[in-house]
Amino acid sequence: MSKGLPDIIDPVDFAEKGRVVAGAIPLYAMERLRDQVVATSGEVRFRLEFAKEGVVVGARGRVEAEVVLQCQCCLGDLPYAIDRDVVLGFVGSIEQADRLPEPFEPVILDEPRVLRVAEIVEDEILLSIPQVPRHEVCETVEQEGVAGGKAERRPFADLAGLFPSNTKQN
Ligand SMILES: [Zn+2]
Repeated sequence: MSKGLPDIIDPVDFAEKGRVVAGAIPLYAMERLRDQVVATSGEVRFRLEFAKEGVVVGARGRVEAEVVLQCQCCLGDLPYAIDRDVVLGFVGSIEQADRLPEPFEPVILDEPRVLRVAEIVEDEILLSIPQVPRHEVCETVEQEGVAGGKAERRPFADLAGLFPSNTKQN
């Protein structure tokens, strides 16, 4: 991770102490996200406030980033702003995840009390990216015939070119 942020934390301990983890992670450091973006300059900013809410060990906060995706229609750059509220509940199994009350989004920990902060932030960013990114209106793809509705059509112009020597024979 970057800028002295803890890479691995104990979410239970952080929740009991009401600790906050906030900072920024460069896009190039996120291996899974790297495949999804055109440019890896920039960073993901995040803030997570850990707290115990009833029996739930959770964290509330936000992730933010400006990324550049590739439009799947015209293959051009598609700047995309991510600003996502997160409400996470940390659990140890799918069964516990099923029992998690709203609005907590379950995060199943592989090992008890071990949370990799950068992975969670990257997960949230990946969830914010559309599966098939595309411009609302692509600039480079113009609908043929829409703008030029009055264009002169000469259906036989090409045919004439197919028989260039017709008139010279005989
Ligand atoms: Zn496009």
